[in-house]
Amino acid sequence: MSLTIGVLSIQGDVQENLLSTKSAFDELGIDGTITDVKTPDEISQLDGLIIPGGESTTIGQLSLVNGSLKVLKEKIDSGMPVLGICAGMIMLSNTANDRVVGKTDQPLLDILDITLERNSFGRQRESFETEISMDSINIPKFNGVFIRAPSVSDVGSDIEILAKYNDKIVAIKKENVIGTAFHPELVEDVSLHKYFVNLVSSLKN
Ligand code: GLN
Repeated sequence: MSLTIGVLSIQGDVQENLLSTKSAFDELGIDGTITDVKTPDEISQLDGLIIPGGESTTIGQLSLVNGSLKVLKEKIDSGMPVLGICAGMIMLSNTANDRVVGKTDQPLLDILDITLERNSFGRQRESFETEISMDSINIPKFNGVFIRAPSVSDVGSDIEILAKYNDKIVAIKKENVIGTAFHPELVEDVSLHKYFVNLVSSLKN
């Protein structure tokens, strides 16, 4: 079986995610295609998608304008696995408020019943790294890189909490959808990308 995994390449950490997914394929011995995607047509070909970190207002606006937002929502709602990282997790939420400026009227995918606090740990200069545990998905130790990261301030009852840091929720899952506030593509350890590739593979069968 061959898998096709895309990285949404509208804005953000695209190359890093292509490389981490390639390492995950290599470590798992999986054959497949890893590609950057932007258009509705490219998105419609995928078995799984990573929405990278970056700037959620930009990713939202540009994907609305080029028609990708609608296709993304349809594909994910109908079961395509997605890993949303930082801005990508913000895109998956139904409500996003900035810690300082409050409600931002930005386009969101409205896939998960979660409320996000954007820039929850401060601005760029307050970036940090810390150890994260995601025991329920067998990743007990992971180096979490937080850059203008959000946290999840409210979750619906159908959302599984994968990790917290300082009492704030920083990783969540619901069926085919995973969101992390930290950046797994910026560390050597590709366990989370491998977990995602395995999820894509199991849901394709
Ligand atoms: N603060 C950014 C936003 O709100 C996310 C930062 C990131 O993806 N590293 O979109």
